[in-house]
Parts: sequence; C-alpha cells; structure tokens
Amino acid sequence: MANAFPTNARVVVIGGGVIGSSIAYHLTKLGWKDVVLLERKQLSCGTTWHAAGLLTTLRDTEAQTRLARYTQDLYRRLEAETGQATGILNCGSIQLAMTDDKAHEMRRGCAMARCFGVENREISAADVQSMWPLAEVSNVKAAFHFPRDGRVNPTDVAQALVKGARMGGARIFEQTKVIGIERRKGRVTGVRTDRGDIQAEYVVNCAGMWAREVARMAGVNVPLQACEHYYLISEPIDGVHNMLPILRDPGNAAYIREEAGKIMVGFFEPIAKPWGIDGIPEEFCFNDIQADWDRMMPYVERAMQRVPCLLDHGIKLFFCGPEAFTPDHNYLMGPAPNLQNFFVAAGMNSLGILSGGGVGMVMAHWITEGLPPMDMWSVDLRRAHAWQDNDRYLQDRMVESLGIGYQDHWPYRQWTRARGVKKSILHDRLAAAGACFGESAGWERPNWYARPGQKAEYEYAWGRQNWFENNAEEHRAVREQVGVFEQTSFSKFLVQGRDAERVLNRVATANLSVPTDKIVYTQFLNERGGIEADLTVTRLADDGYLVVTAAFTHTHVEALIRARIPNDAHCVVTDVSGAYSMLNLQGPSSRALLRRLTGRALSNEEFPFGSSQQLQIGYQTLLALRITYAGELGWELYISTAFTLPVYDALVEAGRDFGLRHCGYHTLNSLRIEKAYREWGHDIGPLDTPLEAGLAFTCAWQKPEGFIGREALLRQREAGPLKRRLVQFVLEDPEPLLYHNEPIYRDGVLNSYTTSAMYGHSLGAAVAMGYLVDERGVSDDFIIGGRYEIEIGNTRHPARASLAPLYDPKSTRVRV
Ligand SMILES: Cc1cc2nc3c(=O)[nH]c(=O)nc-3n(C[C@H](O)[C@H](O)[C@H](O)COP(=O)(O)OP(=O)(O)OC[C@H]3O[C@@H](n4cnc5c(N)ncnc54)[C@H](O)[C@@H]3O)c2cc1C
Repeated sequence: MANAFPTNARVVVIGGGVIGSSIAYHLTKLGWKDVVLLERKQLSCGTTWHAAGLLTTLRDTEAQTRLARYTQDLYRRLEAETGQATGILNCGSIQLAMTDDKAHEMRRGCAMARCFGVENREISAADVQSMWPLAEVSNVKAAFHFPRDGRVNPTDVAQALVKGARMGGARIFEQTKVIGIERRKGRVTGVRTDRGDIQAEYVVNCAGMWAREVARMAGVNVPLQACEHYYLISEPIDGVHNMLPILRDPGNAAYIREEAGKIMVGFFEPIAKPWGIDGIPEEFCFNDIQADWDRMMPYVERAMQRVPCLLDHGIKLFFCGPEAFTPDHNYLMGPAPNLQNFFVAAGMNSLGILSGGGVGMVMAHWITEGLPPMDMWSVDLRRAHAWQDNDRYLQDRMVESLGIGYQDHWPYRQWTRARGVKKSILHDRLAAAGACFGESAGWERPNWYARPGQKAEYEYAWGRQNWFENNAEEHRAVREQVGVFEQTSFSKFLVQGRDAERVLNRVATANLSVPTDKIVYTQFLNERGGIEADLTVTRLADDGYLVVTAAFTHTHVEALIRARIPNDAHCVVTDVSGAYSMLNLQGPSSRALLRRLTGRALSNEEFPFGSSQQLQIGYQTLLALRITYAGELGWELYISTAFTLPVYDALVEAGRDFGLRHCGYHTLNSLRIEKAYREWGHDIGPLDTPLEAGLAFTCAWQKPEGFIGREALLRQREAGPLKRRLVQFVLEDPEPLLYHNEPIYRDGVLNSYTTSAMYGHSLGAAVAMGYLVDERGVSDDFIIGGRYEIEIGNTRHPARASLAPLYDPKSTRVRV
C-alpha cells in the first residue's frame, strides 16, 4: 500500500533534487506524516547530480550565511542517521584577494561572518603556498582560511536526505510529472500528474530550473532563468590530494578543488549565457548541455594561471550543465503572495547544495508555522515583482547575475544589465539636471546629481566615492534651504470600501480611525510581533485610504493587505502606482516655495504636520502630504502622471529664488540616518518588534479589535527588560565610512552589527544604527554606560551611542 499512488496527501513536494529532498526530510522531522515527493524522472536528475559540491560559508547576507552553516552541520551528521554516506570532506577553504580593494571587502565580510559564528582567519600568501603547493600566489594580496568548510558528493546528499525522509514516513514517486496545480478560492488544493491527481493541503514547488514553468500552472510568479554553468577536470596530477582546501579565486572568476587526484576548476564568468530560452527539453535527465568553450577560453586561461601545472596536463572532462539563476542572485523562497499554501524554494544560483540543508529546515518551519525561523527577506519570494516575469528581462539580467558573487561588491554597486525597465515621466528632465540613476524594483531613480561638467557615473571605491561631495551639497541644501526628490517609484495602493477602515485597523499597529486627511505612520506586524512593513496610510475619505510604501516592498505589502481581507468584507485594493508621480520637497524653505506656487500661507495652523490637502499649482491640482523622511519641514506631492511635467517645471522655475536643489536617494538616506528614521529591510524586519526597534509609539494598544501581533508584543512587554534594542551610533573620527554589517563592540566585546549606515554630513561623521543585545536586558544604563567601537576591516573605531536621534532629537525642525 505504501507504494500505491496516492489520491490525497497533506503536502506534495514537487521536485526530487537536493531542495525537494531536504524539505521532505525536514517536514518529517517536524512530525508531518503525510508527505509525498514527486519527481518527473529520477531523483537528482536535474541540476543536483552534477554540482561541484562546494560547502563554503562566506556569503553576502546573514540569512544565506546561517543557511550554509546549518547545512554543513546537517551533512556531517546525515550518514550516522541514515546510513547513507554524503562524501563530506572537511578540507576547509581559502578565499583569495588579488587587489587591495578586494582584500578590504573580504576583511569586512570575514568580520561580519564571525558575528554569525563562521570561523575564519586571515593568512599570508606564504601560508596559501604551503597549504596549496601547486598554486601560484605571487599576485595574492590577502587570503582568508575557513577551516570548517568542505565539500560533499551532491547525489549522495540528495539520496541521504531522501532516505531520511522515507525513514520519517515520506513517500517518494519518481517518473511522475506534475502537469497542473489545482486551486480554489485563492488556495491551492492539489496537483495533477501524468499518473493521476492528488489532493493536497500544501504544495511546495522545488522544481529547480523548471520552477518558473511549474509556478505558472498556479498563476504564481517565480522569475528565474537557467544559464550555462561550467567546470573542467584535469587528468591526474601528482601532489593533488583530497584534503587540499577549496581555493576560491574571485579575481579569476574561478574556484579550484581536488577531484579524485585531479584538479577541478569551476567558473563564475562575469558575462554568462542563458540556456533553455525556448524551454527545457522534455527528456532532460542526468544530461549535460552543449558547451561553448570558445566563449569560456579566456576564463579558463586566467584560472590556469592560478594553478599553472594545469597547462602541462590534459583536461579529462569539460562539463557544462544548466542551473537556475535569479535577477538579484538571491534564492526565491517562501509562500506565494497570491496563492495560499503554495510554497516555493528554487532559483538557487549555484548555491543549492551548500544551502540545501538550511533551505529545507527553514521551509519546513515556514510551512508548519506560517513564519520562517529567521529573517529571510533577502531570499523571500515576495520581493519578486510581476513585471519580472518577462523573458527578455530575465535573459538579459542573467548575463550579469551568474557571476556577480565573484565580482567586487562595491558599496552602492548598480546592476548594468536589464536596466531601464521603468522610468518616470520626468526621467529625461532629471537626466538633463545631472541625475545619476540607480535601479530599485525596476525603476530608474536619481541617486545623486552630477555638477555641470561632471560625469553622472559611479566611480566605485571603499573610501569616498566620486559623488561624496555631491551628496554633501545636496544634504546641506535640504538642511539649510530646500531640495526636491523625485520618488515616483513609491508604490501606492487605494484601499477602499465600507470595511476598509476595519480591515486596515486590524493590519496596522496604529489607529486608522482618524479624521479624513490625516496621515498615519504605522507598521504591519506578523503574529509574532515582527515588523512586516513600515509605511504611511492617509485617510482620503470615510471609506478610502492611500497606502504608500517603498517600491521594493510592493508585492509583499499588497499581499499582506489582501490576505487579511475577510471573504465577506467590502474592501478593495487598487494599485495606482503608475497613475501618480511623487515629488518630495524637503527643507526649511519648502513652505516659502510652495507658498509662492500656490498662493496659500500653508502655515502650521492651515496645514499641520501629519495631514494632507489638495493644492493647486498652475492649472494642476495635486495631493500634498505634510510629512518627512529627512527630518525637515516638507511635503510629498502626489501628482497625476498627466499633470507632472507642468508641476515639475513650475517648481524648478520658482525654486531658483529659494536655492532649490535636485537631490537623490543617497541624500534621502544620509538625511534619514542622521534622524534615526528606520528603514524596513535594514533596521527593522520580520524578526524585530516595534518594542525592540523603538517604534512602540505607533501601537494603538486600546484599539477595539486590536491588531495583528498585539498579543505577542504584550507578552514581550511582560517578559521583562528587552534583550535587544535599536540604537544610533556616530563615529568619533570624521574620516572612516560605514555602510552596514560592521561589527559593533561594547566594552571590547563583540555585541552585534550595524543594520544601516551612511555619512552624516550635518553630524560630521559616519552614522549607523544597530541592535545592542544583552540576555539580562538592554536598559538605558546599559546603553549609556558602554564604550563602543565599530569594526571596519580589522580596525576598530570609537563610536558614541544614542537612543534619541542625534540630529534634532525633539523634531523642532519638522513641526515649524
Ligand atoms: C556545473 C555546476 C556546478 C555546481 N556546483 C555547486 C556547488 O559546488 N555547490 C552548490 O551549492 N551548488 C552547486 N551547483 C548548484 C546546485 O547544483 C543547484 O543549486 C541545486 O542542485 C539545485 O537543486 P534543486 O533541487 O533546486 O534543483 P534540481 O536538482 O534541478 O531539482 C529539481 C527537480 O524537479 C524536477 N521537476 C521539474 N519539473 C517537474 C514537474 N513538473 N514534476 C515533477 N518533477 C519536476 C526535476 O526533474 C528535478 O529533478 C552547481 C550547479 C552546476 C550546474
């Protein structure tokens, strides 16, 4: 009976690669009894079988680092548990830097990784030579050793996970292709397969490079694209043994390791090639794909310079296999935003083996508890946008995405491919004004403005970049006169209907039962009290609100609201993002400028802070919100797209008399960090509560129907002093720059790390935020009584901590 094809299952996992196997395994560990895994051909026949099996832990984000760490530990114990070997070898790994800048980047990354318990130390080129005698190290500027890293045999790992899953009661069916996803009333109800239908409460899409296609069957967006991915294996070479550490050599876009007495070289070339653009062949099973070694030869030659003995030995295998990559080189995991109980874990960007264990563990908890056990935003499927499901976009972006992990990760680095997806109607005017554009959620946004004669292009560096002074001038203009920020990219939703107030009041921490025209700053929480969104809601009418959020949170915020509209509620969400531009006027002269344009006094009494009104500028009428993210007097102007050009022209024309300056997003960031305004995704996220983040003032504890997360917050409040609290820091030395993810030391002991940072031009030094942590409770005395240092590379810089904003702590400038 166990092998009879089921008609029902609690959960169906689609795909028998390392990810599907790991999720099935971990679900059984959490006590799930009715787990069915379906594989269209044979287990591990997709991408998993041909992976190089590297287990390296230095990753870009905390989430990915933690996943990799968990994975290593799991693979170490799997054989003892299942009897199936994984081929794990604890050979360690070495990262090489060929330039001073890369060395600096790695020092920062390694310091950060140590915060998460990843053991590593800097070693000399001579050390590398003695650990890897065949390597050529004369151009090595710095190297870092990770003694706990290693490698596995990926097929064996998948087998061990499947065996463990079977031991836990999961049923596995090969030669079973999912051909449809069943849904009813916004919820998944099962799958159709070429062997029959299975009703299921949950469906998990782990179909690797097929995941976009499988998701489409469910109307879900999973933007990924397969690319060619290469390694080669030499003939046997004397002196090559299996305990040689893995050499990661980003300067040559390559990694090098031993393989049965031979040398394997794998590539993350900076210009990659999408594969399967007309669809993946139906018969694909344990296949390699047509290689293009002419294209790869320059990279092969460079990599061989690192291990020159390869030039004297033949190549036994040139291998090219496909792997799924994503537009931002991060995984796509978690619940679908628009289909309940449909989960995805795909787009592993050639990191699926080294993070597979962790991905399975996190997904199993996510499915079971509805929330992940750690902050997964950087890999959350809900950061993807509907417009990304575009063939040409995915193909063009993937040319750059594949190799990005091995490139220099400069601060403020911008993507260069697949740009120009979304442009505001002001784009050309802003370009003429000197805008240097960056990309966010597909939008081209001015990050800074070049001076006449200066090129509007980034010159990347770890020190002051070429736009540092531009930022300083824009920053001062807003503090002293007035600046205009073009923020059309902001997502705007109308939430309307008789029940709009009731729905939003349940979702938001703040009380939205306010008079018409009132703006409310609020958070949306999850059931654990973690912050899922941080935004403003403006009451436009008895039955209508305007919800405004940053573009990168568009899908997530929309899904959060929609998911909480009861079936019988009279409440409709409309995305009006494209219908309105937004110009944000900030600075002490903003009132005088608007007064000139509108002919109205706009005094505090007439137009108080936190309220909205219609204003008329020329023939155009627009919605103005008196609010700030810069810490100054200012108004956000929401202008119908058709009205935007004349309004902008009038602003610029009149602005000449008031010192109006175009300002970019970098300036908005430097301004808001000085004022300690939090940014969701950096300073606050699903694992941080408003109490910890100092945002409890938004919580309307007495709202009649409460709000999601309230009970969790009350429990946290009653549990005694908070164990972590968000604090602002400023460096004592005006020279060093902070970016985020720098370790924070309290009284000489590592305490935590910065969550966001930038140069504070008014405070005259780098400013950051970060959580201070203490198991006994982080009291005011604990914060004030500490001696702080922030580590940049290997150097610690004294810093001052403050609970109140260091700039204008009483907000006197905002409410003038
Ligand atoms: C050359 C190369 C080297 C690599 N080296 C490394 C490395 O060193 N370290 C590392 O971490 N990663 C590495 N990777 C990446 C790694 O192999 C992948 O990230 C990982 O295997 C992805 O696993 P997966 O389960 O998501 O996908 P897959 O292994 O492809 O599994 C997906 C499965 O879904 C099945 N499927 C698809 N559609 C359906 C359907 N409709 N119904 C039922 N089943 C379906 C497929 O048949 C497939 O078996 C490498 C990849 C390549 C190409």
